Amino acid sequence: MGMSLDTTAPQITATGIDVVIDSTPILTGVDIAINAGELLALVGPNGAGKSTLLSVLSGDVKPTRGAVEIGGRDIRSVRHLELARLRSVLTQENQVSFPFTVAEVVEMGRSPWARTASQDDDERAIADAIGATDVSHLVTRRYTSLSGGEKARVSLARVLAQSTPVVFLDEPTAALDLRHQEDVMSTAAALARAGRAVVVVVHDLSLAAAYADRVALVASGRLEAVGTPAEVFTAERVERVYGLPVDVVTQSGRPVILPIRGAFPA
Ligand code: ADP
Ligand code: MG
Repeated sequence: MGMSLDTTAPQITATGIDVVIDSTPILTGVDIAINAGELLALVGPNGAGKSTLLSVLSGDVKPTRGAVEIGGRDIRSVRHLELARLRSVLTQENQVSFPFTVAEVVEMGRSPWARTASQDDDERAIADAIGATDVSHLVTRRYTSLSGGEKARVSLARVLAQSTPVVFLDEPTAALDLRHQEDVMSTAAALARAGRAVVVVVHDLSLAAAYADRVALVASGRLEAVGTPAEVFTAERVERVYGLPVDVVTQSGRPVILPIRGAFPA
């Protein structure tokens, strides 16, 4: 994966994060740091606070209490354009509604680099992003005419084209088939290997475990556990947090989390 610059990502540090909305606590006492060169998977049940935490870490949501630093600076003090050159964000809702072509949507990822020296990387960054997401056969199509999974891959291509040292992806695999899920996670892992910091929200615990360097498990607005996949994904913890009995087996040194399904009635 070319991904032009070989930037080492600035560290992102969140300290004492609370988010309260209409007097309801959404996040409580979250402390976490994301380091250059790591792929961090954010997992947890529906409504746990994963997307809210991602938005706080990316500087898009101001926490009620606590602070986020990027490279030692308060993220609130970083101007919009500079922030767009430091971190990219794939949100859960894919918001392109005007009938742009796929090529136009991916090109939008380059807009923070307009009138900079990095503009020279535009073509390379766009080609790399299109290759990594397997959407080259779609470039002349209207975004609005694509299937859910195709839209998700094109939106990811736009984010990859932005070529930022820090990358936040909220459920990039949700709409994808088996192979494209693996492709997205191995692309995310490759970005981390190249020195970037990558945070991915993912529901499939085995998929998270297979690719992430560390996993952060969010439950009811709190960080339940942070560590390697093997540290975080014990059967006891997964059962307690998800309310479902599971077996945890190991494949190639990584945990695989399997729901224990009862015998089906004959
Ligand atoms: P996740 O991504 O883990 O599914 P979210 O971070 O989207 O969870 O949401 C966490 C909780 O906060 C949910 O109960 C959600 O309904 C609530 N929530 C998120 N944003 C808002 C908001 N703007 N107003 C009210 N409640 C919200
Ligand atoms: Mg979410």
